[in-house]
Amino acid sequence: MVWLVDYTHYTKDIDPELARLRSEYFEIKTYKRAMIIGETAPVKTRVFSTGLLRIATILARNDIDVKYIHYYMLEDLLDSTEEYPEIVAFSAVCPTVPHCARMAELIKAKSPKTKVKLGGSHVNVCTEETLRRYPVFDELTKGYECEGASKVVGRKLNGVSEIYVDYSLLPYPITEYAINTFSSMGCPFACSYCVDGLAPHFVAQPDGNLGVLKELLPRRNLVHFFDSVLGFSADGIRRVTEAVKRTEHDFILSCDMRADLLTPELVHLIEGAGFREIRMGIESSDDELLSMNKRTLSVKRFEEQVKMVRANSNLYITLYSITGLPGTTRESQMRTLEYFDYLLMDKLADEIKNALYVPYPIDGLDYLKRGVYVTNDDWACYDRQSYPVFHTDLMSEAEIWSVYLDTARSINNSWLRSCGFDTPRDIPKTDIQYAEYIQANYLRK
Ligand code: SF4
Repeated sequence: MVWLVDYTHYTKDIDPELARLRSEYFEIKTYKRAMIIGETAPVKTRVFSTGLLRIATILARNDIDVKYIHYYMLEDLLDSTEEYPEIVAFSAVCPTVPHCARMAELIKAKSPKTKVKLGGSHVNVCTEETLRRYPVFDELTKGYECEGASKVVGRKLNGVSEIYVDYSLLPYPITEYAINTFSSMGCPFACSYCVDGLAPHFVAQPDGNLGVLKELLPRRNLVHFFDSVLGFSADGIRRVTEAVKRTEHDFILSCDMRADLLTPELVHLIEGAGFREIRMGIESSDDELLSMNKRTLSVKRFEEQVKMVRANSNLYITLYSITGLPGTTRESQMRTLEYFDYLLMDKLADEIKNALYVPYPIDGLDYLKRGVYVTNDDWACYDRQSYPVFHTDLMSEAEIWSVYLDTARSINNSWLRSCGFDTPRDIPKTDIQYAEYIQANYLRK
């Protein structure tokens, strides 16, 4: 028997001021999305890992007794089980690795014969350091899908065809989950602050399994394509949008996209396939800083692309930004905030998300060469929401944190004003609540 433990999502306490700002952010977002996108099916906050479920599906199709569980179920299961599994395999992200190691020790104490393995995006880029820190794991399994599933059980597996994901293997009905799906994995770009570019990129299933989901979910269900960059090339975008359109779904889709890939033709295809939201990275208004971090598109060109999307569609435009990238100063961040104010006030952006830079551990990468000094090596804090785990040549941890909170405040204020409100109290209440990865998983209820 194999237990696959999903530790890719989790909850944790965050700084009270940040929690307040986040909650204000979601109030504005709820209003803004209701205005632009309108009604949706009830939003769910339970989340699963599509990649881990694909591995579970492959194991089940090869007649291996497999159980997919969420991390919070594990302790009870260990207490109540009559028979411990031969293998427990965790899928983790960087901040959950220490938690998985603690659970691995618990499992070993109860059942020394059980093999405990660890996989997921963190392991793919940081194998050696993870093994050195956490020898409790019997093995780290790198790889994807069939390759990853084979490594979990230690033998070659071939018996998968057709339906890639068997949603009946989830502990709860699929209708209880927020849906993240993907058509491709990895990213061919190599922005210095992101580990997705280090993973191999490949096409998984162009329609993101919408053909199957269509039969299982209500109309106007939100589905986010979790691709790092949808299709990752003009041809890829054409292939995905065609496959998605063919499913004749009635969902509200969103996706991440590189602004430089877009043309009016592709924007029409994306909207025509049922996407209502497109998310692109801007990160900063400082060209020098962007180029230091291997972003090739200038701010001017980015803005032209955003205007082009606006002129050619009714898509809800979300922009991603990161505070604290190497090279950032308080002054450069203040200029970025002025720029964000302009983007929101001029309705070029409908929403700007912001996260804190984290120097994720990567085998062989020396952050000192980038002017980044790691000061806290507890990976449980590497979640883009906790107090900085680093300082740079230009800013202390306290300064980075203060600028990060100022950024959250400033974005909220600009966003409120762009909607015609002075305070969050002015926002009319709607029935809709938009689930969000960060809201569902980082803010403990
Ligand atoms: S394009 Fe996006 S997903 Fe790809 S490496 Fe850069 S930030 Fe990461």
